Amino acid sequence: MKKMILAHKIQLDPNNSQKHYFAKAAGTARFAYNWALEEWGRQYSVGFKVTESSLRRQLNAIKHEKYPWMLEVTKCAAQLAIMNLGRAFANYFNKLSDYPQYHKKWRHDSFGISNDQFKIDGRKICIPKLGWVRMTEELRFAGKIMGAVVSRTAGKWFVSVQVVLPEAEPIHQHHNIDSAVGIDLGVQNLAVLSNGAKVAGAKAYKALRPRIRRLSKSLSRKTGGRKGECKSKNYIRAQIKLAGLHARIANIRKDETHKLTSMITKNYSIIGIEKLNIAGMLKNHRLARSISDMSFFEFRRQIEYKSKMTGSKLNIADWHYPSSKLCSTCGYKMEGDLPLSIREWECPICKSHHDRDINAAINLKNNAVSYTVSACGELVSVTTSTKQELSNQSG
Ligand SMILES: [Zn+2]
Repeated sequence: MKKMILAHKIQLDPNNSQKHYFAKAAGTARFAYNWALEEWGRQYSVGFKVTESSLRRQLNAIKHEKYPWMLEVTKCAAQLAIMNLGRAFANYFNKLSDYPQYHKKWRHDSFGISNDQFKIDGRKICIPKLGWVRMTEELRFAGKIMGAVVSRTAGKWFVSVQVVLPEAEPIHQHHNIDSAVGIDLGVQNLAVLSNGAKVAGAKAYKALRPRIRRLSKSLSRKTGGRKGECKSKNYIRAQIKLAGLHARIANIRKDETHKLTSMITKNYSIIGIEKLNIAGMLKNHRLARSISDMSFFEFRRQIEYKSKMTGSKLNIADWHYPSSKLCSTCGYKMEGDLPLSIREWECPICKSHHDRDINAAINLKNNAVSYTVSACGELVSVTTSTKQELSNQSG
């Protein structure tokens, strides 16, 4: 049976000394990450073969003497931070990301705990060298716990617990809330589903981006780059090369969009999506725009024809439907703007904590379900309490 890893992010309710511990542990993680990043560069430059495990051993050997304050928090804070650095370097070596950067306070306030180092009991989590901390809700999934990450967002502390679960079997019943899905398309993720799954999409764009940037730059320097100038052979050659790169990214995106739209139309009988937000798209950076726009249009085209083939009902929300600003738990509508930079928000009425994209996807799902009920006159049980904060690890 296929397995998937889901993460449930739960808000913590720490007292002052617990908050102090969290800040210290996050500081320790950040220190260890930055220490290892510096050592990595230094040791590499003098010809050593560096690995994250060798750096973990080295820091372990000196911490009692040089950094005794590290011992005041869980040993996982430093260990897992250096393991993360190892992954960052692996991504860099595989050309999936840029060279790792130093972690900064306020931007990187988190630490990990391995699964043998903490326990969860109802609405409490036990953390080494700290004890029990209250959680605002219980862990949603029953499965093997893989680990946890404690992090600070907008002044609040959260724990994200990763759990392994067997992958759900396809659902084929028709016109039932369980077979409905809402999809929020984005730039950060290819798509976010109302069940909490975040489909990150291939890293193709990220990997090819530096080459595109380089090519565009050299293109503008070649004869023909300026208006009215006659295009040189070199210019045309570079132009073709650049177009080829764009096409490669578009193809990779198209392929992953096909996988996603097939999965959705095969498994869900009611599908809610949003009308394309042209105005929002135009605000994006030009390169990001051309690529995300293409995949939005492509997604829409595919889901339209595939839902016809499978008999799924596709509902495209009204132009003015405020999917991002509605609380999916109580229906409250936020006044004013919700800038794209706000990724999470709390409903002032019911105090639900929302992941922006998941909340929007749930609204699109509920909207599609209620529309389908009135259109088909079939009985559907509509629940509004489908608040979910799970996300798979790729998200
Ligand atoms: Zn609410």
